[in-house]
Amino acid sequence: MNINLNGKIALVTGASRGIGKAIAKTLAQAGAYVFATATSQTSAEQISEYLGNNGQGLVLNVNDSSAVNITIGNIIKSKGQIDILVNNAGITKDGLAMRLKPDDWQAVLDTNLSSVFKLTQLILKPMLKAKSGSIINITSIVGATGNAGQSNYAASKAGVVGFSKCIAREVGSRGIRINCIAPGFIETDMTDILSAEQKQGLQQQIALGRLGNTQDIANAVLFLASDLSNYVTGSVMHVNGGMHMND
Ligand code: NAP
Repeated sequence: MNINLNGKIALVTGASRGIGKAIAKTLAQAGAYVFATATSQTSAEQISEYLGNNGQGLVLNVNDSSAVNITIGNIIKSKGQIDILVNNAGITKDGLAMRLKPDDWQAVLDTNLSSVFKLTQLILKPMLKAKSGSIINITSIVGATGNAGQSNYAASKAGVVGFSKCIAREVGSRGIRINCIAPGFIETDMTDILSAEQKQGLQQQIALGRLGNTQDIANAVLFLASDLSNYVTGSVMHVNGGMHMND
């Protein structure tokens, strides 16, 4: 069975590279028209290039509330709806909690958690009107397991899970679903900073014996974006190769 997103409008944040890029491409390949964002004009143009006729790149800093407002308003104006929202943009600013700078705490919470609130709140209105929609939030294994040196990041990702479960209860009866995908360790710029030894150490903890790739996550997003997951909401899908096995 092929997943068909023909006629669906999607918005993916943080699609200049890594997981977001794979998600944007995959949704477009499935037939959706995809708006995908980057923080610079050059990257937004590169997104437009890789999406071709199936979407366009936009400049968006998810911490800029008025830009978020304008972006969503413009999409609704031009396409009339947004069926799929993927909150993917995210950052890390690691450090042991005892030494963590308040600015690094705040930047991670703003980018990874508050932005999800802002985008979701704005997008719920048109979704409520349409009585349908799928929101997918990219969290992290670390939000479930914790990780020394990532208290800000883990708090932001665990916060997104709690937030998503509340929204699932608030709008489920109106045909809107909201789910999280918690990737394990995926090969992107974010994990490039790990040394070869660290990567090897991680691999030994992964049942499938490898780090994940961006397509592993995009495939999970495709499922949650599509009608195949019509009875799934408020869930966290762990895509981690068996590194963390939850109930
Ligand atoms: P990445 O390669 O570092 O890419 C991050 C993306 O987020 C980029 O497109 C970046 O845009 C965008 N971004 C950063 N700050 C932004 C802001 N203020 N406003 C808008 N966009 C912003 O990261 P990744 O590994 O693909 O991670 C994607 C998501 O998966 C994140 O939420 C991350 O926490 C999560 N995740 C990743 C892993 C992993 O192992 N890689 C594991 C678990 C969860 P620019 O290029 O324009 O800066």
